[in-house]
Amino acid sequence: PKPNIDPNAMLMKSYACQRRTPLKHHNSFLTDALEILAQNAEYNDNEGRSVAFRRAASVLKALPHRVKSMEDLRSLPCLGDHSQRVIKEILEDGSSREVESTRQSEQYQAIKALTGIFGVGVRTADRWFREGLRSPDDLIHTGQQLNRAQQAGVQYYDDLQKPVTKAEADVISDIVEKAVHAVLPGAEIQLMGGFRRGKEVGHDVDFLITHPEEGKEEGLMPKITNWLEEQGLLLYQKTTRNSYLEKMDGPARAPNNMDRFERCFSIFKLQASAESCTSNSTASVQDVSTGSETERHSDQHSEASDWRAVRVDLVVSPYSQFAFATLGWTGSKLFERELRRWAGQEKHMSLSSHALYDSKQNLYLRAKTEEEIFAYLGLEFIPPSERNA
Ligand code: ATP
Ligand code: MN
Ligand code: MN
Repeated sequence: PKPNIDPNAMLMKSYACQRRTPLKHHNSFLTDALEILAQNAEYNDNEGRSVAFRRAASVLKALPHRVKSMEDLRSLPCLGDHSQRVIKEILEDGSSREVESTRQSEQYQAIKALTGIFGVGVRTADRWFREGLRSPDDLIHTGQQLNRAQQAGVQYYDDLQKPVTKAEADVISDIVEKAVHAVLPGAEIQLMGGFRRGKEVGHDVDFLITHPEEGKEEGLMPKITNWLEEQGLLLYQKTTRNSYLEKMDGPARAPNNMDRFERCFSIFKLQASAESCTSNSTASVQDVSTGSETERHSDQHSEASDWRAVRVDLVVSPYSQFAFATLGWTGSKLFERELRRWAGQEKHMSLSSHALYDSKQNLYLRAKTEEEIFAYLGLEFIPPSERNA
């Protein structure tokens, strides 16, 4: 891999999609702190501020060395005054007062716990916080109205809090492959999201599904979920139909992250392997001893059970959009955001998970591979393992 810093110019590129960002880097002690401030800004509905902190953190992830002094930051892009102040304090004192007080704050902790529930976004969490609720247990005790997703989120809370391992993702890949091939032979399945970027754990497992014969993929999702349900492998699923129309969704549409593919947000019932069974029962002994937790646990599946709940996202894409969908569902979220910003601001193009539209030529640019999309955008190809911006 090429270094991120041009040895002559000593310039770090300013868009994350122009840089290589490996999974493991040298500055977690700074990026963790900046990302807490980013998270907190998001909780306070301040998106601009949140993105600023995330961009600052991302630049430090791309540095090939550990930051030792403020000198090391000279000529780095995206580091605003506020981020620099935080970094300086951490370098000098070992920690930042603002970060530590944010981390300790009741609001930060409550919104983090509440948005940690599947189906709960910042807006809902904030409303509950203002009503005095602080944790998933509070929701149960006060008998809050929950939608179907949130009910599942509360029911499987403990399992969904546990990171999904690559080994578990591989088992789920096999299951998804079996399901898809049972209902549509010849379909192609690709592991997406964090696991495609080389992560060893994730909060869910993401898959993209297509078929080389355009049209064959239509209406595929209900067939897949029916098959999975018949096998008793689904604890929850919500399928959304494809609503993409090139004419309406293309250049005119406001740039945002949501795509319109046929998709399914689900919770799988994953049979535990022999080892994870053992660690499961150890965990339950500890859990039972913490009094306040027991109520919710009575709602959970049996402590000694031989399965766990795992979040799985399934997306179906027409073959002609597969390269765009692949690029859009690989992440990281900041990398995606920066790609779209680059396309719009630097190239007068509009990028989504469906298509790339060139506003100057007034046409859609077709692509079969991610490499072609990077080329259209005038960017050096960045492989998935270096999109951990
Ligand atoms: P984690 O390990 O926490 O799951 P991740 O990078 O896989 O990390 P996800 O939230 O699973 O994070 O998202 C994976 C990718 O899918 C991201 O690139 C994101 O941009 C994309 N994505 C997620 N939700 C949507 C959505 N509703 N519409 C369009 N794209 C989405
Ligand atoms: Mn994911
Ligand atoms: Mn996901």
